[in-house]
Parts: sequence; C-alpha cells; structure tokens
Amino acid sequence: MTSNPRRTFILDFDGESPLRLDCELPAMARSPLDILPAVFALADAIHTRSAAALGRMGRTVSCGPGCPACCNQLVPVSAWEALHLAAVIRSMEPPRRHRVVRRFARGVERLNDAGLLAALERGFRRHTLEPRVLAGLQRAYWNLRIPCPFLEANACSIHPHRPLACRAYMVTSAPARCAALYGAEQSHEIVLHAADPASTLAAFSGVGITRTRVLPLLLSLSAAPSLRPEPAPLPGDRMFARFLDLMAASFVRRV
Ligand code: SF4
Repeated sequence: MTSNPRRTFILDFDGESPLRLDCELPAMARSPLDILPAVFALADAIHTRSAAALGRMGRTVSCGPGCPACCNQLVPVSAWEALHLAAVIRSMEPPRRHRVVRRFARGVERLNDAGLLAALERGFRRHTLEPRVLAGLQRAYWNLRIPCPFLEANACSIHPHRPLACRAYMVTSAPARCAALYGAEQSHEIVLHAADPASTLAAFSGVGITRTRVLPLLLSLSAAPSLRPEPAPLPGDRMFARFLDLMAASFVRRV
C-alpha cells in the first residue's frame, strides 16, 4: 500500500513563532472528508501550542484522560464530521457497532421524551444560531446528562476520530467546576484558541466558503444519509491550503 505524500505548512499566527505542520494529504481529495486527518492534526497542533502558551503564563490545563465531564455536553459537529463519524461507526465490528448505534438511539429517544429533539432539529437547521438560543439549547441538553455514545469507561472510544469541538475543548479551572456547568454561577475557565478549525470546516465546501452546517453529535448518525457531499475534487494539498486560507481570515490573538 502506498502512503499519501507528506507536506509541510507554516502558519504564522502572530508573526513571532510560526506553527510548523507536517501532514499527509491525498494526491486528490474529492471533498473535505479526504483532508480530515490533516485538519485533525492541525487542531491538535493548535491545542498543543495553546497549552504551551498557558504554561509559560503559569497556568495549567485541567483536561486529561479519565475526565469525561465535557462528554455530556451538546457537542456541535460540522456536516463533514457527521459523515465521518457515521463512516467510523460503519467500520466497527458488529458487536461494538450495535452497542454504539443503540446508545445513539437511546440518546435521541431521551431528547424526544424531554421535548428537546424538535427544538434541536429546528434550531440547527438554521445556518446561524443566535447565541441566546444556542445557550438555551446547550443548558437544556446538559440538564439531561446524556453521555456521548462514544464514551466508554470514562474515556473517548474513538479518540483519533473525535470531533474538532472535543479537540479544542480546554479548561484551566478545576475539573469539579466543569461538573457544575450551566449552573447559576458559570465558573469554569475555558480557553479560546487563536484559530478555529471547527468553525472553518463547517463553512468549507472544499473549494471555498459554503453555508455553515452544524448539528449536535447525537443527531449525526440519523442525519448522515441526508448530508450528501457535493464532489469538489482538488489536489489534497491545494484543498488544505484553501482551508488554511479560510481559517487565517479569522485568526485572533487570544492566548
Ligand atoms: S467524541 Fe469522545 S471526546 Fe467527544 S464528547 Fe464523545 S466521548 Fe467525549
């Protein structure tokens, strides 16, 4: 089996310490699904960079293995990630696949029983969610405490494939404060990174900007058949470079 060619990209966040990213890209990418490994590598590199910057400021990141506090939250994923997650589930051996699919079904049933399913479907069908509406949906979702269908023994069972929102999540407050999310006093300290691959991917067609499409992870399996990717073939390195250009438009100094 031949491996994909490796390419190196230099990202200049602040003009002081460029981020060097080495990643594999396919010779030809049919859609952003084919460049997801590079996008995931980029998100991980941004996370590592933020953690190092925090360390220099004497702050430490609380997130780590065995802390699943954030895995009961509404995790927003792009249409591309929903398709990817559906493919990951399809590739699982039957007993595991059936377990995961049952968890998805139970979670969706609980949303329905709580009267939240229709509101989520309605809310996320829009291309832009008002922050107030999103916050209300997140709080209602959190109150149900539905564990992510991929959570097993307090750990992510699809760690290499986890969505960008999970890769970006980073807090510096004590884990116990995450357990009280959306309470009267929202006291956890969340880190915002200098670049946002998740929002970029949600608005990326493969060649340029498209209408943003985001949905809750728990609905990704049922929605996947209706998310038909438009083929937009480009050499993998060119598609990834376009993705980086789009992301660069929203670079901010945060950490
Ligand atoms: S995908 Fe993994 S990290 Fe993300 S919420 Fe689910 S279990 Fe947690």
